[in-house]
Order: sequence, then C-alpha cells, then structure tokens
Amino acid sequence: MDDNKLTPMLKQYYAVKEKHPDKLILFRMGDFYETFFEDAHTASRILNITLTTRNKNDENPVPLAGFPYHALNTYLDKLIKAGLKIAICEQTEDPKKAIGLVKREVTEIITPGAVLDQSFLEGNANVFLASLYYNDPQKKIGLAHLDISTGDFLFTELDNEELVNELQRFRAAELIVDSTQAEEYVKTLPLETLPTITVFDSWQFQPQEAIATLKKHFGVTTLEPYGAHNKLLGATAAGAALAYVQGLYNTPFNHISSLRYYSLSQYMQLDEISRRNLELVRSIRYGTKYGSLLSVIDQTMTPMGSRLLQQWLLHPLLDIKEITFRQDIIQSFIDKSSHLKELRLILKEIGDITRLVTRLGSLRINPRELIALKSYLYSARNLQTKLSTFEHPQFAVWQQNMGSFEDIIALIEKAINDNPPISITEGGIFAKGYNPELDELMDIIYDGKSWIARLEEDERRKTGINNLKVGYNRVFGYYIEVSSANKNKVPDYYIPKQTLTNSERFISPRLKEFEAKVLSSEEKIKNLEYELFKELRQNLAESLPRFQQLSEVIAELDVLSSLAFLAWQNQYSRPVFTESRELHIIDGRHPVIEKLMESDKFIPNDTHLDYPETSIAIITGPNMAGKSTYLRQVGLLVILAQMGSFVPASKMTLPVFDRVFTRVGASDNLAQGQSTFLVEMIETANILHSATSNSLILLDEIGRGTSTFDGLSLAWAIIEYIQKYKHSLTLFATHYHELTELENLYPDIKNYNVAVKQWNEEMIFIRKIERGGADQSYGIQVARLAGIPEKVIRRAKEILKNLEEHEISPQGLTATIRKKLVRDVPQIDIFEILADKASENDPIINEIKEIDLNKLSPIEAFQYLQKIQNQLLGEK
Ligand code: ADP
Ligand code: MG
Repeated sequence: MDDNKLTPMLKQYYAVKEKHPDKLILFRMGDFYETFFEDAHTASRILNITLTTRNKNDENPVPLAGFPYHALNTYLDKLIKAGLKIAICEQTEDPKKAIGLVKREVTEIITPGAVLDQSFLEGNANVFLASLYYNDPQKKIGLAHLDISTGDFLFTELDNEELVNELQRFRAAELIVDSTQAEEYVKTLPLETLPTITVFDSWQFQPQEAIATLKKHFGVTTLEPYGAHNKLLGATAAGAALAYVQGLYNTPFNHISSLRYYSLSQYMQLDEISRRNLELVRSIRYGTKYGSLLSVIDQTMTPMGSRLLQQWLLHPLLDIKEITFRQDIIQSFIDKSSHLKELRLILKEIGDITRLVTRLGSLRINPRELIALKSYLYSARNLQTKLSTFEHPQFAVWQQNMGSFEDIIALIEKAINDNPPISITEGGIFAKGYNPELDELMDIIYDGKSWIARLEEDERRKTGINNLKVGYNRVFGYYIEVSSANKNKVPDYYIPKQTLTNSERFISPRLKEFEAKVLSSEEKIKNLEYELFKELRQNLAESLPRFQQLSEVIAELDVLSSLAFLAWQNQYSRPVFTESRELHIIDGRHPVIEKLMESDKFIPNDTHLDYPETSIAIITGPNMAGKSTYLRQVGLLVILAQMGSFVPASKMTLPVFDRVFTRVGASDNLAQGQSTFLVEMIETANILHSATSNSLILLDEIGRGTSTFDGLSLAWAIIEYIQKYKHSLTLFATHYHELTELENLYPDIKNYNVAVKQWNEEMIFIRKIERGGADQSYGIQVARLAGIPEKVIRRAKEILKNLEEHEISPQGLTATIRKKLVRDVPQIDIFEILADKASENDPIINEIKEIDLNKLSPIEAFQYLQKIQNQLLGEK
C-alpha cells in the first residue's frame, strides 16, 4: 500500500506492527482495543467478534475488529490459549492534552509461555515456557522450563528420545529455539501437540551470553550453586529463556530466585504412553483432570500444594530414604487425625502466596493484594503454631523455616487501610498515622466539610438569605446556590457562574481559595500515596527470599497433609519396600474406579509377583471381566507407593521399580485404521528395548490389533522374550486363553484369571483374580448377550470345538488346520443359509444366479459375498 495514502493513525499502527510482525496488535483507541487487517480477521475468528471495515468506499478499505477495553482479560485469555502472541499498544498521553495524534506505545507483550499476570490463568496449573539448545541433536540437548508466574525454573540435559518425553510431561505453552533449523527439528519430533514455537535471537543462545544473563540475574560469579557450571547446553537454554522473558516485561524478575538442575535418573521413568494409559493427570475419556488419579488424590487446600502434588505424581522417587521420609510424615499426620483436620482448615485460608509473591517481586502487587497477603500471613502464623502438635522432628524444622513475619504484618497493618483500591494512582490506600504529611493533607480535606458548613452559616448571616447552600459538582467545582427569588440580595463580591431554572449559582473569592486548596491537596494526596506505595512495595520486595521459603514450606505441608487425609479417609495403608524383587498386594483397589462406584461395590484383589518364582502372570478372562482395571490398579499402586503416598490396599510390599511401562493393544474399532496396529507394535518394541530387570511391565491385550493368529503368535513371542532376556516383573492380560499354555513351558510364568460364573446361558462377573487359566474364553456367550444371530453363535461353537481338538503348539496352528478353517468358514455358512432360502425364490438367490464369475476379481467376489451375508444376517 502506498504509504502516503495512509492516515496518520494507520502510519502509527504500521510502525508498531513492523516492530512486532509476529504478534497480534491490540491497538487502544479510546474505550476500545482495535485490531486491523490480518489481525482483525484472526481476532474476529477466535473471539467471535464482528469484523467491520473502515473507509468502506475507499480503494483500500481497512478490516477492523475490536472490543471494549474492560473486557481485555477475558479476550486475552482466549487469544493466549489459541497460541497467539499479543502486543498491547496503549495511548500513553491524555487524548485531551494531545496535540495532533495521541501518542501510543507497546506497554506489554504477552506470549503463551510468558504470562506474568495471574488473572489470565485458569486454575492452579503451571504455565511453562520451554527453551531448547543443542549443538548436535543426535548427542545431548539442553532443555529448560520456566514458569514466570511462580518463579519455577529448572533445566536438564538429555537425548533425543528423552526430550520428547520431557516435552510431553511439562506440556509447555511455548518453546523458544535459536534458529529456524531448530524449529524444523522440533517439528519432526513425534509430539501429539506442539507448543507455540518462537525463534528467539540466536545471540542470546550463545553460551557465553546466556551464562552472563544468568549470572547477572542471580548476582553471582559462578553458576556452581545451581549445578549449571558444567552443564553448558542446559545452562544456555536456561539463560536464553530468562533473556526472552526479560525482553518481554519491563519489570524486575526478583521472584525468579533460583534455577534447579535435575537429572532424569533421579526419578522413576514414566513415558508419555504409560502416563496416559494410567490416566495419571488426565482421563482418557474426558481428556480432563476429572476421572484421573490426580483428581482423586488431590486433596490439597492451596494452589501451591496442588501444583507440587502434580509434580510429585509425575516424578515418583527411586530413593527409599526419601520415600520413607514422606511416609513417616504422613503417618505422623494420621496419628493426630483431628489435628490434621484443623491444620487443613488453616491451610484452606491460604491462597496463592507464590503468585502474590511473584507480583511482589515484579513490583506489580497492588494494595488490595497486600491485604490478601497480610491475611495469608495471619493464617501462616496459625499454621506455624499448629505444627507443634505433631511428633516427627521435621515439624520443628518446618516451624523454624517458616520464619517470622511479625515485622511485615505490622508494617502492612500500619500502612494500608482495610479496604484499599486496586489502583495505586488514585489515593485511598493508606491508613491514618502512617505518614504525617499524608495525614496533614487528609486533614485539609476532612476539615473541609466543617469549613463549608461554617462558610454556609457565615454567608447566610451576612446576606440574610436563609436557604443559601454551598454545593459541589464535578464540572463547576464548588459554588454558592441562591434561589431566584433571593437574587437581589446577593452581594457584589459573588461572581455568577451558572443559571438554573429556579436558582443561580455563584462563586466567592473565599470559596475559590478553598477550592484550590482542596483540589491541590487531593492531587498531592494521590501523588504522595503513589510514591509511598512504590516505596513500601520496594521495601517488602526485599523480603522476597523469606516469602519464597514460606510458600515452599506451605506447599510441602499441604501435599503431605493432603496425602495423609486421603489415606485416613479411604483406608489406605503404608507400603513396605524390599530389596528383593517381589511385589505383593493384598486386597488392592483401583483408587479411581472405587471412587466412581457406589461404596463397597469394588472388589479388592491380590497380586503376587516375585522373581524367580513368578515373574510373569498371564491374566485371562472374558471381555468386561476386569482385566484392564486390574492391570492399571497395580500400576497406580506402584506409582503412589513410590511418590511416598499410602496405597488403597490392606498390605503392599514392593521393590523400587526404575520404570513402569503400560501398553494397551489397539482396539479394532478405532477409526484410524491399519496404523493403530503399527503404533501398538512401535510402543511394544520400545518396552522390549528399554525395560530392565527392575521394571514393571503391564501389557493389556497386546496383539489385539491384528488377526487372531498373528496376534496370538506375537503375544506369545513377546512374553517369551521378556521371560528370557528381560526378567522384568510382568502382567499380561489377554483374551487369548491359548496363552495359558506358556505356564507349562516356563517355570516362572503363572496363569491367573478373572473369575466368571455361568448361570443358565448368562455370565456373572465375580471380579476376583484367581490362580489358573480361564477354562474358556466366554467370547461366544458375550456375543450372544450382544444379540448376534443364533446361526452365527452355533457356527462359532463348531469352529471353537474344531480348534480345541487340535491342540495349539508354540508354533501356532498347523498349516492344515488353518487351511481347513479358512476354507470351511464361508462355505458352510453360506450353504446353510442358502439351503434355508432356496425354497423361497429369494431375490438374493436370483441375483447370485446372474453373476458372471469370469468378470469378478477375487476381492470383488469376497466383497460381494460379504454384502450378501450382511443382508441375510441383518434380516434375522
Ligand atoms: P476387561 O479389560 O476384562 O474387558 P475392564 O477392566 O474394562 O474389563 O472392566 C470392565 C468393567 O468392570 C469396568 O467398567 C469396571 O467398572 C468393572 N470392574 C472391573 N474390576 C472391578 C472390580 N474389581 N470390582 C468392581 N468392578 C470392577
Ligand atoms: Mg480390557
């Protein structure tokens, strides 16, 4: 577009857009935020707001979409969630005072991974920015995660495969990289959802530069305390992440007070597929927290606690000492259950201190938030006292670490009145007695009222006008009002100001002087309060490390007391860890399903795996018997145990597992088609490569995604492989009861089944796991229940009998049986049906007679046959 044709305003807009080409510009115009051109199309689509055009009849009409300024938060939330980066361009001078075009500047940039202001954030979850740096992605990759709303800042170094897993675990909202090559590389990773990817200044990713950024921010000369001195790749990713957010916000980030290195080997490894199958933080069916393990165990009372609990759940421990420590604390809480409940009530009063402290550290906290902070500090003080009730020595340590906030409480009490505004430029913040100068100014305004009353009386007396009034309005300021009837009594030093229907308004020199004094006091008060507040905030920000320590202790107490409450309320027991490779669970329950059912409906089950007696259990049973539930239950109990929690079982003994793998066979009705079986095999291959003898493997109907014979043979071979080369404790659920043969071949493979009873032709699910294989698969009974035609059922029974008479061997079926079966099935079925139909001069028969077999390919013939069969069966 020709620049000269642009209006000055659009020129101004273009100048902004040029600096922020990758962002959506919210351009402040009076009471609205407007978007233009491409941005307007985007905004109208995402926000569902009307797209209009400015200068419709021009040769270059301008598309435009806007919304009222007070709706900013709601709309921002949607734009950010849609993965957009936003630049807010405000009017930076008073339009009334502006000469020509009002000045505008970008005052804030918000990107999906860098949201500082908690008001946009839904719920308590962390919002992470990820940063990635490598020289050669085939070697090591540096990865950092930063949540600027809480100050959580961590980094690690890992390989390609681990990277995918870590990215999936953190689910960052945005990822920064140093180049478009790196961006391309990330896009090739097998990630289900990609975060918003931002290519950030490559010089900020220069190790030298990035490390300097970190050192400067933390005010240190070495990064050794953060474990970052010999982790160049990870530290570079971290430094770049910090530089990126510093560039977006014009505020100090004092609350980002530490950086933590973590190693993947500190925690039990859980890959994304296992996390998903076990529904740790999201349920498969709803895709939300509801129905997940987290939703059941999250009894926390504070947002900090809730975030920490989720991190614990995704990072089960490997160190028995650490696990035992958590168990001991939980036990101490349970030992004093009534105090535990009281403690939880105190916690409930404490809101998101971490995010308030972030607001303090970035010097954005407002007066009303200080009042909230004060009330949290009162509660923290009660909490601190309460800790004396519990036995474990750690409680005294926590009590100590919480520190004392008496000075800060006293300061806020003294400074801020009980009902301050959010804004810090309009006065009304401070309490009387905090600052003498402020008190004096307040007095002038306060005294003003009585001064006016006195003036009113004086003037009445002097003029003899009894209904004379002194009043105030926003446009004219102070005035003396006299009814029209008394107009002639007005003295000459009254200056006329306004004539109304029945009265006249005047001003007098004395009143004018008074007005000036009051107005200037108001102005002075606003300015003074603004300065005082900034000073107070700066002062409080000095105590940031104390606040952070406090919120860390509260988070930890909240998580542990919540786990204790969970255990106490649901009869969980304390698991025992052993050095030997044995897993024993007595009366284990599925923590989520038992909650979703009516009380006492869930049937508890035992589990016994111990190397080398029983390293693999094969669990057979018909569909709907409870196999999948049982497998997941075992996985969930192990994870709960290793995160330090108690477990829903009357007794549990386990070794420390290095990994838990779960895989579920692709179900045949999935729409994705053939690829699901491939996915199933890729997932299984990954286990066969990475499992160790200390892993727990849970395989659910692996092999289901292909034909019976393929599936059966693969399942068989996979089990053998684990038995011979992996020695991992394994549960294998299957509806192929042929696999029960394996027990006869390998001493450490044992058969179990989920009991079912047959009563007349009905099945009764007992949901009890018992020793031995299922005597039959019951699939045919299930099919009958589902309404499959009697003819199919009868034929299926025949085939089954046929199969059972020729015992299956490790090599699968013999070629002759297979041939016989394949030949038999369609032939017999169709002739039987045709015989029924023959007498009826059936249209289908006639159609068959018409077919020219020479023109049909084998596939077409098959499809045709299928069609006929469907028609016939459908009729029944
Ligand atoms: P399968 O994998 O054998 O087909 P599922 O594990 O999917 O069976 O379980 C089928 C249903 O049985 C589930 O909806 C579940 O609610 C119920 N169920 C499973 N185990 C139990 C149990 N131990 N007690 C009560 N109900 C159970
Ligand atoms: Mg199942």
